[in-house]
Amino acid sequence: MVLGVVMRTKGLRWPFPANLAEKITGHVIRAVTRRGKYLLIEFAHGTMIIHLGMSGHLHILPLSTPVKKHDHFDLLLEDRLMRLNDPRRFGAVLWHERGTTEEHALLGKLGVEPLEPEFSGRFLYEKTRNRKAAIKQVLLSGGLVVGVGNIYASESLFQAGIHPATPANRIGIARYEKLAQAIRRVLTTAIEQGGSTLRDFSGPDGRPGYFQNTRFVYDRAGRPCRVCGNSVQQIRQGQRTTFFCPNCQK
Ligand SMILES: [Zn+2]
Repeated sequence: MVLGVVMRTKGLRWPFPANLAEKITGHVIRAVTRRGKYLLIEFAHGTMIIHLGMSGHLHILPLSTPVKKHDHFDLLLEDRLMRLNDPRRFGAVLWHERGTTEEHALLGKLGVEPLEPEFSGRFLYEKTRNRKAAIKQVLLSGGLVVGVGNIYASESLFQAGIHPATPANRIGIARYEKLAQAIRRVLTTAIEQGGSTLRDFSGPDGRPGYFQNTRFVYDRAGRPCRVCGNSVQQIRQGQRTTFFCPNCQK
Protein backbone atom coordinates (compact mmCIF):
# COMPACT_ATOMS: atom_id res chain seq x y z
CA MET A 1 0.00 0.00 0.00
CA VAL A 2 1.18 3.51 -0.75
CA LEU A 3 1.47 5.66 2.37
CA GLY A 4 2.29 8.86 0.57
CA VAL A 5 4.55 10.65 -1.86
CA VAL A 6 7.25 13.26 -1.35
CA MET A 7 7.99 15.75 -4.11
CA ARG A 8 11.04 17.93 -3.59
CA THR A 9 10.59 19.87 -6.79
CA LYS A 10 7.63 20.83 -8.96
CA GLY A 11 8.48 18.37 -11.66
CA LEU A 12 11.08 17.00 -14.01
CA ARG A 13 10.47 17.10 -17.75
CA TRP A 14 6.87 17.90 -16.91
CA PRO A 15 5.26 19.04 -13.67
CA PHE A 16 4.42 16.23 -11.28
CA PRO A 17 0.65 15.49 -11.29
CA ALA A 18 -0.77 18.02 -8.83
CA ASN A 19 -3.09 15.61 -7.03
CA LEU A 20 -0.93 12.50 -7.21
CA ALA A 21 -0.76 12.07 -3.43
CA GLU A 22 -4.57 12.04 -3.16
CA LYS A 23 -4.85 9.69 -6.09
CA ILE A 24 -2.61 6.96 -4.76
CA THR A 25 -2.25 7.29 -0.98
CA GLY A 26 -3.97 4.35 0.66
CA HIS A 27 -4.15 2.40 -2.57
CA VAL A 28 -2.55 -0.97 -3.20
CA ILE A 29 -0.06 -1.52 -6.01
CA ARG A 30 -1.33 -4.36 -8.18
CA ALA A 31 1.63 -4.79 -10.46
CA VAL A 32 4.89 -3.19 -11.46
CA THR A 33 5.96 -3.70 -15.04
CA ARG A 34 8.57 -2.24 -17.31
CA ARG A 35 8.41 -1.15 -20.91
CA GLY A 36 11.71 0.17 -22.18
CA LYS A 37 12.63 2.96 -19.84
CA TYR A 38 9.09 3.26 -18.53
CA LEU A 39 8.17 1.78 -15.22
CA LEU A 40 4.43 1.24 -14.92
CA ILE A 41 3.06 1.05 -11.39
CA GLU A 42 -0.47 -0.20 -11.69
CA PHE A 43 -3.32 0.45 -9.32
CA ALA A 44 -6.95 -0.63 -9.62
CA HIS A 45 -7.95 2.86 -10.74
CA GLY A 46 -5.01 3.93 -12.87
CA THR A 47 -1.32 3.73 -13.66
CA MET A 48 1.57 5.77 -12.39
CA ILE A 49 4.29 5.98 -15.00
CA ILE A 50 7.89 6.76 -14.20
CA HIS A 51 10.32 7.50 -16.95
CA LEU A 52 14.01 7.63 -16.14
CA GLY A 53 15.04 10.03 -18.90
CA MET A 54 18.77 9.97 -19.51
CA SER A 55 20.10 10.08 -16.00
CA GLY A 56 17.33 8.89 -13.70
CA HIS A 57 17.75 6.10 -11.18
CA LEU A 58 15.23 4.41 -8.96
CA HIS A 59 16.29 3.01 -5.62
CA ILE A 60 14.39 0.97 -3.09
CA LEU A 61 15.58 2.20 0.29
CA PRO A 62 14.83 2.06 4.01
CA LEU A 63 12.39 4.78 5.08
CA SER A 64 15.06 6.58 7.12
CA THR A 65 17.51 7.03 4.22
CA PRO A 66 18.87 10.61 4.17
CA VAL A 67 18.01 12.70 1.13
CA LYS A 68 20.80 13.42 -1.33
CA LYS A 69 21.12 15.96 -4.08
CA HIS A 70 18.80 15.28 -7.05
CA ASP A 71 16.49 13.04 -5.00
CA HIS A 72 13.34 14.56 -6.47
CA PHE A 73 10.59 12.10 -5.75
CA ASP A 74 9.76 9.41 -3.17
CA LEU A 75 6.98 6.88 -3.19
CA LEU A 76 6.44 5.90 0.44
CA LEU A 77 5.54 2.27 0.99
CA GLU A 78 4.88 0.48 4.25
CA ASP A 79 8.40 -0.54 5.16
CA ARG A 80 10.53 1.22 2.56
CA LEU A 81 10.48 3.86 -0.08
CA MET A 82 11.14 4.08 -3.77
CA ARG A 83 13.27 7.12 -4.56
CA LEU A 84 13.83 8.76 -7.93
CA ASN A 85 17.17 10.51 -8.32
CA ASP A 86 17.56 12.41 -11.59
CA PRO A 87 20.41 14.92 -12.02
CA ARG A 88 19.44 15.98 -15.52
CA ARG A 89 15.69 16.05 -14.92
CA PHE A 90 14.67 14.47 -18.19
CA GLY A 91 12.69 11.89 -16.29
CA ALA A 92 8.98 12.06 -15.63
CA VAL A 93 6.34 10.97 -13.16
CA LEU A 94 2.86 10.79 -14.64
CA TRP A 95 -0.57 9.52 -13.71
CA HIS A 96 -3.23 8.11 -15.99
CA GLU A 97 -6.72 7.13 -14.91
CA ARG A 98 -7.74 3.63 -15.77
CA GLY A 99 -9.51 3.32 -19.10
CA THR A 100 -8.72 6.77 -20.49
CA THR A 101 -7.39 7.04 -24.01
CA GLU A 102 -4.47 8.97 -22.57
CA GLU A 103 -3.40 5.91 -20.71
CA HIS A 104 -2.83 4.07 -23.96
CA ALA A 105 -1.62 6.95 -26.08
CA LEU A 106 1.06 8.08 -23.70
CA LEU A 107 3.90 5.78 -24.58
CA GLY A 108 3.61 6.66 -28.24
CA LYS A 109 3.68 10.38 -27.50
CA LEU A 110 6.98 10.58 -25.73
CA GLY A 111 10.19 11.16 -27.58
CA VAL A 112 12.69 8.35 -27.91
CA GLU A 113 16.14 8.27 -26.41
CA PRO A 114 18.80 9.03 -29.01
CA LEU A 115 20.99 6.13 -27.96
CA GLU A 116 18.15 3.60 -28.18
CA PRO A 117 17.75 1.46 -31.30
CA GLU A 118 14.42 2.94 -32.44
CA PHE A 119 16.05 6.32 -32.90
CA SER A 120 17.05 6.60 -36.56
CA GLY A 121 16.97 8.84 -39.59
CA ARG A 122 13.78 7.16 -40.71
CA PHE A 123 12.19 7.78 -37.33
CA LEU A 124 13.04 11.51 -37.53
CA TYR A 125 11.82 11.68 -41.09
CA GLU A 126 8.48 10.00 -40.41
CA LYS A 127 7.77 12.07 -37.32
CA THR A 128 8.40 15.40 -39.02
CA ARG A 129 6.28 15.19 -42.18
CA ASN A 130 3.75 17.66 -40.77
CA ARG A 131 6.11 19.81 -38.76
CA LYS A 132 6.94 23.19 -40.25
CA ALA A 133 8.88 24.43 -37.23
CA ALA A 134 12.64 24.90 -37.52
CA ILE A 135 14.51 21.64 -37.05
CA LYS A 136 16.55 23.09 -34.19
CA GLN A 137 13.39 23.86 -32.24
CA VAL A 138 11.85 20.51 -33.03
CA LEU A 139 14.96 18.84 -31.60
CA LEU A 140 14.82 20.94 -28.44
CA SER A 141 11.09 20.42 -27.88
CA GLY A 142 11.59 16.90 -26.51
CA GLY A 143 8.51 15.51 -28.21
CA LEU A 144 10.55 13.75 -30.85
CA VAL A 145 13.80 12.90 -29.17
CA VAL A 146 14.63 13.23 -25.50
CA GLY A 147 17.73 14.83 -24.09
CA VAL A 148 19.12 16.76 -27.02
CA GLY A 149 19.93 20.08 -25.37
CA ASN A 150 21.00 23.33 -26.93
CA ILE A 151 24.68 22.48 -27.30
CA TYR A 152 24.01 19.03 -28.73
CA ALA A 153 21.42 20.37 -31.19
CA SER A 154 23.76 23.05 -32.54
CA GLU A 155 26.68 20.66 -32.83
CA SER A 156 24.66 17.85 -34.38
CA LEU A 157 23.11 20.12 -37.01
CA PHE A 158 26.57 21.40 -37.89
CA GLN A 159 27.93 17.89 -38.26
CA ALA A 160 24.97 16.94 -40.43
CA GLY A 161 25.35 20.10 -42.57
CA ILE A 162 21.77 21.22 -41.89
CA HIS A 163 20.87 24.87 -41.37
CA PRO A 164 19.13 25.16 -37.98
CA ALA A 165 16.23 27.22 -39.36
CA THR A 166 15.27 24.62 -41.97
CA PRO A 167 11.60 23.61 -41.59
CA ALA A 168 11.61 20.06 -40.25
CA ASN A 169 9.24 18.82 -42.98
CA ARG A 170 11.62 20.01 -45.70
CA ILE A 171 14.43 17.71 -44.69
CA GLY A 172 14.68 14.45 -46.61
CA ILE A 173 15.47 11.00 -45.36
CA ALA A 174 19.15 11.04 -46.37
CA ARG A 175 19.79 14.21 -44.39
CA TYR A 176 17.87 12.83 -41.43
CA GLU A 177 20.08 9.73 -41.50
CA LYS A 178 23.08 12.04 -41.25
CA LEU A 179 21.44 13.98 -38.45
CA ALA A 180 20.59 10.85 -36.43
CA GLN A 181 24.19 9.68 -36.77
CA ALA A 182 25.48 13.11 -35.76
CA ILE A 183 23.24 13.23 -32.67
CA ARG A 184 24.42 9.81 -31.55
CA ARG A 185 28.04 10.73 -32.19
CA VAL A 186 27.81 14.04 -30.35
CA LEU A 187 26.09 12.49 -27.35
CA THR A 188 28.49 9.57 -27.20
CA THR A 189 31.50 11.89 -27.39
CA ALA A 190 30.04 14.11 -24.73
CA ILE A 191 29.43 11.18 -22.41
CA GLU A 192 32.94 9.82 -22.97
CA GLN A 193 34.63 13.16 -22.47
CA GLY A 194 32.45 14.51 -19.74
CA GLY A 195 32.33 11.48 -17.53
CA SER A 196 29.45 13.14 -15.79
CA THR A 197 26.61 14.36 -17.93
CA LEU A 198 26.11 17.15 -15.41
CA ARG A 199 28.86 19.15 -16.98
CA ASP A 200 26.51 19.79 -19.83
CA PHE A 201 24.89 22.50 -17.80
CA SER A 202 27.70 24.81 -16.84
CA GLY A 203 31.19 25.09 -15.51
CA PRO A 204 32.17 27.19 -12.49
CA ASP A 205 32.11 30.36 -14.58
CA GLY A 206 28.55 29.68 -15.69
CA ARG A 207 29.57 28.88 -19.23
CA PRO A 208 28.96 25.48 -20.73
CA GLY A 209 31.74 23.19 -19.63
CA TYR A 210 31.10 20.41 -22.03
CA PHE A 211 33.63 19.26 -24.59
CA GLN A 212 34.79 22.80 -25.16
CA ASN A 213 37.84 21.84 -27.14
CA THR A 214 35.99 19.84 -29.73
CA ARG A 215 32.94 22.04 -30.28
CA PHE A 216 32.53 23.12 -33.88
CA VAL A 217 30.08 25.98 -33.50
CA TYR A 218 28.55 26.24 -30.05
CA ASP A 219 29.61 29.46 -28.29
CA ARG A 220 32.04 30.26 -31.11
CA ALA A 221 30.22 33.20 -32.78
CA GLY A 222 32.59 35.33 -34.86
CA ARG A 223 35.34 32.74 -34.77
CA PRO A 224 36.43 30.79 -37.83
CA CYS A 225 34.55 27.60 -38.67
CA ARG A 226 36.87 24.69 -38.01
CA VAL A 227 35.96 23.17 -41.37
CA CYS A 228 35.75 26.06 -43.87
CA GLY A 229 37.18 29.07 -42.03
CA ASN A 230 34.07 31.23 -42.47
CA SER A 231 32.78 33.14 -39.47
CA VAL A 232 30.48 31.18 -37.14
CA GLN A 233 27.14 32.99 -36.73
CA GLN A 234 24.60 33.14 -33.96
CA ILE A 235 20.84 33.60 -34.14
CA ARG A 236 17.98 33.45 -31.65
CA GLN A 237 15.44 30.67 -32.03
CA GLY A 238 12.69 30.72 -29.46
CA GLN A 239 14.45 31.71 -26.27
CA ARG A 240 17.70 29.99 -27.18
CA THR A 241 20.84 30.97 -29.04
CA THR A 242 21.80 28.83 -32.00
CA PHE A 243 25.29 28.76 -33.46
CA PHE A 244 25.96 27.65 -37.00
CA CYS A 245 28.19 28.07 -40.04
CA PRO A 246 26.25 29.59 -42.96
CA ASN A 247 28.72 28.07 -45.38
CA CYS A 248 28.67 24.48 -44.11
CA GLN A 249 25.00 24.36 -43.16
CA LYS A 250 22.33 24.71 -45.83
ZN1 LIG B 1 31.99 26.15 -42.15
